[in-house]
Amino acid sequence: MPELPEVETVKSILETFVPGKRVKSIDVYYSGCIKAPVEEFSSFVIGETFTRMSRRGKFLIFHMTNNKVVVSHLRMEGKYFEGVETDVPDKHDIIRYVFTDGTTLRYNDVRKFGILVPQKEDICHSIAPLSEVGKEPWDLTPEELYKGLQNKKSTIKEALLDQGLIAGLGNIYDDEVLFATRINPKRIANTITKEECVAIVRESDRILKEAIVNGGSTIKSYHPKEGVSGLMQTRLLAYGHGNEACPTCGFPMRKIFIGGRGTVYCPKCQVNFGEPLIVGVTGPIASGKSTVSSYLEKKGYLKIDADLIVSEIYKNTDVTNVIKERFSMAEFSREGLLAIVSQSEENRKVLNSIVHPAVYKEFLKRIDENKDKKIVLDVPLLIGSPLEDICDLIITVIADESNQRKRIAERGKDVDASLALNKKWPRGIAKRKSGLVFTTDGSLDKLYKNLDKYDW
Ligand SMILES: [Zn+2]
Repeated sequence: MPELPEVETVKSILETFVPGKRVKSIDVYYSGCIKAPVEEFSSFVIGETFTRMSRRGKFLIFHMTNNKVVVSHLRMEGKYFEGVETDVPDKHDIIRYVFTDGTTLRYNDVRKFGILVPQKEDICHSIAPLSEVGKEPWDLTPEELYKGLQNKKSTIKEALLDQGLIAGLGNIYDDEVLFATRINPKRIANTITKEECVAIVRESDRILKEAIVNGGSTIKSYHPKEGVSGLMQTRLLAYGHGNEACPTCGFPMRKIFIGGRGTVYCPKCQVNFGEPLIVGVTGPIASGKSTVSSYLEKKGYLKIDADLIVSEIYKNTDVTNVIKERFSMAEFSREGLLAIVSQSEENRKVLNSIVHPAVYKEFLKRIDENKDKKIVLDVPLLIGSPLEDICDLIITVIADESNQRKRIAERGKDVDASLALNKKWPRGIAKRKSGLVFTTDGSLDKLYKNLDKYDW
């Protein structure tokens, strides 16, 4: 989605050829983006000459003769293209202005979320949508931002996306500003201090200006113009760098979702004060998870072990009675249960649906009781569980099957039944979602040397 720097770049490109063009006719291919009846819009623009371009937040403003403007928002994927009258329309074209000199300007929008609003020039800033746009960072004072944050109970990440509060930050530059100011994106907005507001305004100003100079970021499908690419993408430090080493401290950056938006931060540089640093260690059975989580224990982390929590839950007769009934067991035993769930995927799912919510609740309780500590969660089924998003780092530990077999046998357990339970363990997804991946097939010394590289 284009943000302020990208819209500014589009504005600059349009400025090179739009002013001075007189509208001879228009072609409307999809009327849904035009916030007026098509007939009304046609007679509004035909015969007028574009005079200049301006921008407010992420809105483009096309100024025309006779006190008229067309306010345009590109939303997700809106693009403008210049062309000539004989061009064949693209299937995603929304509208085309045909100028008296035979050239054209097409608005193309794959997602059709963009808008075009005809308005009177002299009042356009005092009515919606422009009246709802807040100040841009270079006009906003830290005091105004601080005041605006006081009634926000959302995270700071979400608050800075509110264009009424501060105009121009979208998902990309929001992450960049929070990284630069060392503010954790999960912080509640009204806990941000006045000093931090000074930093947010200063860094928003600096980063957006830097992005404008570099022509914005070309991310995924967004292109300001065919053949023109933004250079800012190569300068982004946080956005798009989840699971990579932090450029400041080297610790793995973490990507989580806040309000549905992908968010990247460094758990070490952007400390969430009052909240524990949480490292999740996961891996299939006998992969060596506990070697890694025990290492972190020695580094001062409090270990919360899913297997121990499950053992305790199996001592609770409220839970075991439900399981006994569900699987028609005469007596409850974990060995008997293992035999039942290794028989079928369906049985395993049923058991998980009984046990997992109780495990999750217990994890949250223990984390809440230990907020002053660093915490390591040792959880075989971390990936895809609700615990995943509360981790500041996920470490996946894997081992060759031969090593797994050896270790399971050493524990005196049924090797095939244990491995059957782990058949569906999501190796590929886990590796992708992890900041660090370790194998425990080599020597312990080598593993510890790898772990020693990080400031725990
Ligand atoms: Zn860092």
